[in-house]
Amino acid sequence: MENEKLNLSNIAAHFSDAEKAREFLEAQRWPEGPICPHCGELDNAYRLEAKPDSKKAVRKGVWKCGGCREQFTVTVGTIFADSHIPLNKWLFAIHLLCASKKGMSAHQIHRMLGVTYKSAWFMMHRIRYAMTQEPLSSKLTGVIEVDETYIGGKLRTGTQGARRTDRPAGIANKAAVVSVLQRDGRVQSRHVEKVTAENLKPMLRQMIDEDAHLMTDTSTVLKAADVVCVKHDRVNHTVKEYVRYENGLCITTNAVEGYFANLKRGINGVYHFVGKQHLHRYLSEFDFRYNSREMKDGERTVMAIKQTGGKRLMLRDSREREVF
Ligand SMILES: [Zn+2]
Repeated sequence: MENEKLNLSNIAAHFSDAEKAREFLEAQRWPEGPICPHCGELDNAYRLEAKPDSKKAVRKGVWKCGGCREQFTVTVGTIFADSHIPLNKWLFAIHLLCASKKGMSAHQIHRMLGVTYKSAWFMMHRIRYAMTQEPLSSKLTGVIEVDETYIGGKLRTGTQGARRTDRPAGIANKAAVVSVLQRDGRVQSRHVEKVTAENLKPMLRQMIDEDAHLMTDTSTVLKAADVVCVKHDRVNHTVKEYVRYENGLCITTNAVEGYFANLKRGINGVYHFVGKQHLHRYLSEFDFRYNSREMKDGERTVMAIKQTGGKRLMLRDSREREVF
């Protein structure tokens, strides 16, 4: 099956059981033969099969490394490790999350896949973890739009909200998100405790090349951007200026605002409530879909599946394991 043609209908047909899903996972993670997770040897392992005269059953999908003689399966060191959820249900969940523009709630996964709500919740968080992008190997260049938005929380107006925190009324209790979007390129979003120039400077310096051309609105905190890049244009939203052209260049933050619009529709409409401690996982999910927006849903699913490896360490440290 070609990856771009992967959709719900043929996932249902081809991955009717966990065994078929395992073979698919092996083909995706190991295109050049099995890789031993213990010693790293490539294509020097064989499948363990029960000997004809042996009564001992052999677990399906187990390989033995010809180098270090250790046994392993394709799920060792992945987000699927130690999970009792059948692999085909995992593939369904990955596809559903990859193919839904605004995300999918754990309640819906729970109903659609027949797993408990608690399992669905942890599955979704593990998948979001797989979607986390590696730190960029090079800084973003070209035209970069930077903006901030506020997610969730109750909108408090008047002095009450302002009194509780030192933030202006209206954004108290909300979580701040700053996104750096390369026009026609990638986006990276971060949850920041407080949007101040001091907090933003190191983050922007780390992500953006100093030769980039920055576009922001006139919000005062984005003065941080001046320190990072020499080329910096602003659109003045307070006087209803959203787009202007200078020397053939479009000065606007419309792309990053479009990204925020979709993020908010997802967080407010699908997830309803997102705890601040989990917000970075949701940002990984929305960034992942945005950064693969040119792909077909099936290709995006396969990309997520390929990223399921190398995630063991973090899960070991996490309380998530207790639930599986
Ligand atoms: Zn080995």
